[in-house]
Amino acid sequence: MAFENLEESLRQKEYIQKMQEYVEAETEKIGRALTYHIETFGCQMNAKDSEKFAGILQEIGYQEEADEEKADFILYNTCTVRENANMKVYGRLGQLNYIRKTQNPHMVLALCGCMMQEPDEVQTVREKYPFVKIVFGTHNIFKLAELLYRSTQEKGMIIDVWEGTDEIVEDLPALRKYPFKSGVNIMYGCNNFCSYCIVPYVRGRERSREPEDILSEIRRLADEGVKEVMLLGQNVNSYGKNLNQPVTFSELLKEVEKIDGIERIRFMTSHPKDLSDELIETMGASKKVCTHFHLPMQSGSNRILKEMNRHYTREKYLEIVEKLRKAVPDISITTDIIVGFPGETEEDFCDTLDMVRRVRFDSAFTFIYSKRTGTPAAKMENQVPEAEVKDRFDRLLSLVQSIGQETSGRDVGRTLPVLVEEINHQDQTLVSGRLSNNTVVHFPGCEAMIGRIVNVKLKESHGFYYLGECTEA
Ligand code: SF4
Repeated sequence: MAFENLEESLRQKEYIQKMQEYVEAETEKIGRALTYHIETFGCQMNAKDSEKFAGILQEIGYQEEADEEKADFILYNTCTVRENANMKVYGRLGQLNYIRKTQNPHMVLALCGCMMQEPDEVQTVREKYPFVKIVFGTHNIFKLAELLYRSTQEKGMIIDVWEGTDEIVEDLPALRKYPFKSGVNIMYGCNNFCSYCIVPYVRGRERSREPEDILSEIRRLADEGVKEVMLLGQNVNSYGKNLNQPVTFSELLKEVEKIDGIERIRFMTSHPKDLSDELIETMGASKKVCTHFHLPMQSGSNRILKEMNRHYTREKYLEIVEKLRKAVPDISITTDIIVGFPGETEEDFCDTLDMVRRVRFDSAFTFIYSKRTGTPAAKMENQVPEAEVKDRFDRLLSLVQSIGQETSGRDVGRTLPVLVEEINHQDQTLVSGRLSNNTVVHFPGCEAMIGRIVNVKLKESHGFYYLGECTEA
């Protein structure tokens, strides 16, 4: 960890201490513990940041409150990938302010995440939601304790949004959602600038964590009983390029594979343009890398892929899929597809359908193109008429689902390892878990199995899940 990051980490620990004193005094004064509620929107990167926010707040002495309307400190960790994400946040703020005024004068509202990296949105909050106390972005999440402390000392809204950063502050408390699995950030930001995507503008330039920082975090997690790690980055395939001593993602994977106690390794998100043969080879030879691979395709038309600035062709994508299936025969491939990108013709769309038929994805996240102000695509002419987009979306969805139905169930009769995650919500006599290829399995079991990897005979397939029987005593 670089010296200045260590300094910053120590500085934040001082603010955590100051806030501990404040919370202790407040608790004394109002005769009950102060509570917090974090609302997380968007992707796994945001979910991981929220685990750090929860860790800091618990370290300070706040207790978690499931009902946001009852909490003293409410933090919205926002997403801005699609327009409607912003609308959801504004919708809630008004309601929360009413509760603050009528029921809980202690309530403090804070906004962070990708939406707050957009100057227009910060201006909207400043003008229309002046009761919001703290606003910060994606580059300084480590400053939560400091900003909270300032909110106890200063009048008015505290806005601390950084345009960018090359800092990575390690060693912050984090509260994991699951004791047996954990996301691990390996890098932040993205340099790809796909023409429809707002992420590079709100998450900044790519910066990779030092491999030793990642490995020591994973060793610590393994000591705490974690069996499965999800390596996180906007584009994990370009991991390590900005390090003083560059390390490839494949090399990092090999080191993670050596860590005792870790039995499963997942990673997200990959980009076809940076996916190396070296990585595919490493996956093929690995005993721990899971057989689920998420590879966003976005479109099946070379013309649209060019307009999207994706830097690969449909032929290249097919070649990668072939190599993946050769190296990892059991692999399950899922993808992201955008419908209605500006200028998309019926012919382009048919190219996308054709690719879906050729690749036969196990499942796909299908999105209607969402115009994001500030992205090159937002300025493009030929925005596709809504009715046409809707029609294409429905056709794509039904094709993806019918192929998903056909490919699901291929493992019926096999006995495969399942990481047990929880008691089944519908039937308490069942437990639920996931195969290496990420498919859900429900089978008779008990609480004691949670967090263990057990062998399960897959008896029936019900589309996107299996029913099975544990073959271990
Ligand atoms: S790779 Fe493209 S779509 Fe993914 S985060 Fe980066 S710019 Fe966005």
